[in-house]
Amino acid sequence: MRYCKQCILPDTRPGIFLDDDGICSACHGHRDKETKIDWTSRAKAFETLVAETKTQSTSYDCIVPVSGGKDSWYQVIKAKEHGLSVLAVTWRTPARTEIGQRNLDRMIEKLGVDHIDYTISPDVERRFMKATFEERGTTGLPMHMALFAIPIRLAVQFRIPLILWGENPQLEYGGNELERLSNTLDADWLSKHGCLESTDASYWLGKEGLSETDLHAYRLPASPDFTVRSVFLGAFYKWNSYENTRIAQDHGFVYEQGAERTGTWDFADIDCEFISLHHFLKWYKFGFTRAFDTLSVQIRYGMITRDQAVAEIRRRGLDAPKADIATFCAFQGKSEDWFWAVCEKFRNPDVWVRSEGRWTIPDFLIPDWDWGKPESEMEPS
Ligand SMILES: [Zn+2]
Repeated sequence: MRYCKQCILPDTRPGIFLDDDGICSACHGHRDKETKIDWTSRAKAFETLVAETKTQSTSYDCIVPVSGGKDSWYQVIKAKEHGLSVLAVTWRTPARTEIGQRNLDRMIEKLGVDHIDYTISPDVERRFMKATFEERGTTGLPMHMALFAIPIRLAVQFRIPLILWGENPQLEYGGNELERLSNTLDADWLSKHGCLESTDASYWLGKEGLSETDLHAYRLPASPDFTVRSVFLGAFYKWNSYENTRIAQDHGFVYEQGAERTGTWDFADIDCEFISLHHFLKWYKFGFTRAFDTLSVQIRYGMITRDQAVAEIRRRGLDAPKADIATFCAFQGKSEDWFWAVCEKFRNPDVWVRSEGRWTIPDFLIPDWDWGKPESEMEPS
């Protein structure tokens, strides 16, 4: 495992490539944002897109997929600044937090937009998550499938010509040069980067008793008779999570300062109790945690040094999201032993080595990392 020399991302992270100087594609993405991308012409391109959208729309101009989080506030604010009429669409997580609900309610009220809170049967969500967790080691697949499919399907059905997504993840967290400079979220992007494990809804048919009807909400429109443009706002305006939070706060977004749910940001991932599990599984599969991502962004923003980020990883330790794991197991009607046994199934042998009765990662970022006691490492303390 190799780590970027500028940030702390390992080359096991999907989409991360280290160049000959040991600099990762996410750091190159940040450099692109500062030097390579002409933001003035991108802003003009957005104005053109808005004008074209206005000539095509017959009701709402655009759908903004929202969770209630800081980024979705920013997306709605930007859309409205450009005079776009917005239909906000949410895939409703089965584990919405109290603060997530509050922010969503406040957003609809304070930003003054129409909203669909699309709820899939919790029993379907439960069975689908069980199937993807046990077979692919991901709890986040149904979430990703639904939150991409629902806005796309509604846009086609309601004849809404534009969908305004948030950041371009390949620009913020690492991708190849073409992907970093792209602005489009299409079927190709979804299959490569949608966290769908190269599957679609049909693949899961019959697993955990999932029926055609159960899977409706997760399906993309089969042969759409209406063209929807589906773009990342972060491809037109320079994305900055801290700046977005400040703008969202100015309009009424709230978060609990110092209450970190996952990673090192108290203002992110606060809407859903299950998102932390999606991030946590990366420890087994790729040998890093959400804090590696957020601290690396902070390094790129010039807020901390690489040494400070390394020290923070050491200070936090593994930091498993125990409360959220307990909530997930209760939702599934399963024991936590089941959860840990499934995690263990997905421990990646290309990353992990078993020695003296415990699992370790050779050449880990923190040489004196506490790998736990032999045999008991998996037990939450
Ligand atoms: Zn880097």
